[in-house]
Amino acid sequence: MARSTASAPVSVPLEESKAAYLALKAKNLSLDLTRGKPSPEQLDLSAALLDLDLSGSFTSADGVDTRNYGGTDGLVELRTIYSELLGIPVPQLLALGNASLAVMHDVVVHALLHGVPGNTVPWHNEQIAFICPSPGYDRHFAITEALGIRNIRVPYLPDGSLDLAAIATHLQDPDVRGMWLVPMYANPTGATVTLEEAEQLMSLPAAAPDFRIFWDNAYAVHHLSDDEPGALDVLGLAAAAGHPDRPLVFASTSKVTFAGAGVSFFGASTANIAWYRTHAAVQTIGPDKVNQLRHARFLQSADGVRAHMRKHRELLAPKFAMVEQILASRLTGHARWTQPLGGYFVTLTAPRGTATRAVDLAKAAGIAVTPAGAAFPYGDDPDDAVIRIAPSFPSLDELEAAISGLCDCVLLAEAEAAVE
Ligand code: PLP
Repeated sequence: MARSTASAPVSVPLEESKAAYLALKAKNLSLDLTRGKPSPEQLDLSAALLDLDLSGSFTSADGVDTRNYGGTDGLVELRTIYSELLGIPVPQLLALGNASLAVMHDVVVHALLHGVPGNTVPWHNEQIAFICPSPGYDRHFAITEALGIRNIRVPYLPDGSLDLAAIATHLQDPDVRGMWLVPMYANPTGATVTLEEAEQLMSLPAAAPDFRIFWDNAYAVHHLSDDEPGALDVLGLAAAAGHPDRPLVFASTSKVTFAGAGVSFFGASTANIAWYRTHAAVQTIGPDKVNQLRHARFLQSADGVRAHMRKHRELLAPKFAMVEQILASRLTGHARWTQPLGGYFVTLTAPRGTATRAVDLAKAAGIAVTPAGAAFPYGDDPDDAVIRIAPSFPSLDELEAAISGLCDCVLLAEAEAAVE
């Protein structure tokens, strides 16, 4: 992740900032920077999915009638495409329902109720905890919080890399059973786990024999530059490190095709996959294979996915460039922000103690921003500094107005704090 460096602080006159803010409010805006949703134009890129006529050809490559029950592992042709993209052998990769978040939730619930390979004592028998690199994805933290698991905040290091020393220390606690991680273009920091970091994560000693890393590769193919790194072979690294069951890999086509009607994937060691199959068999007689067939025919191959993602990039990259340009011209010397090479978010770090106020000011001016603190366990950003920007959904014009308005709010919050 590239990260802008803050130059010497520049003071902001309060009266000037107030005047700019009043002018912003007078515009009566109604803009939304909250969630990382694809824009309508991005969804249109997959319009052909809805036009595919499957009525006469609903049989999969291996002869499955996709309209019927069964096929709990998902269609092999789609798993083959994603096997190449995620670096996971087909037998260890399942294609499931539309939401990978639901699969993550189910995996945590199964572990709470039944334990996992390596330790069949149900997790709910103990006061367990998850490591949460922060800022991170609020919905990850919400799953563990809702299920009674303690979330441990582990801040990213200032250069955006994982604090492996802190993680190693937490792993000495046998209560620590899991860790949330978005390995590529993380939500919201944009950070990507390096090969060295991944090797260490897979080999670090853990007091709990059943420690799992929820390796949520939601943005594995969502590049914003010519550099298109492939997914790390995390299962291979884990096996080589003697912890084959440690990573649980999740992904989906939510931001490839349709966010609300895509296909999710779950990849793991043979033991973990067998464990998941046993518990999932009680839940369902199979995923939506018709949708999976549609996806396989539309995407065609791993190269088909890569080509399709370049079309997304054409729509997204100008938005990220605009955010960068406005932040650089308005907030240099006042704030720091990330310059992601992929994914869906920019993390803006406002002066300490001002994020809540800036987000409230933005809301009052008609610009909805994710609540300050949302990217931290229990909504608690100890510095009250991080603001998550999601540039994908608004049009370029709306985005320009929203980011420039947000800058007015950050500057006013800073000026107010300076006179307190
Ligand atoms: N994982 C991450 C890191 C995300 O940012 C998101 C959506 O923003 C999801 C998962 C949701 O994925 P799905 O739509 O497959 O449930």
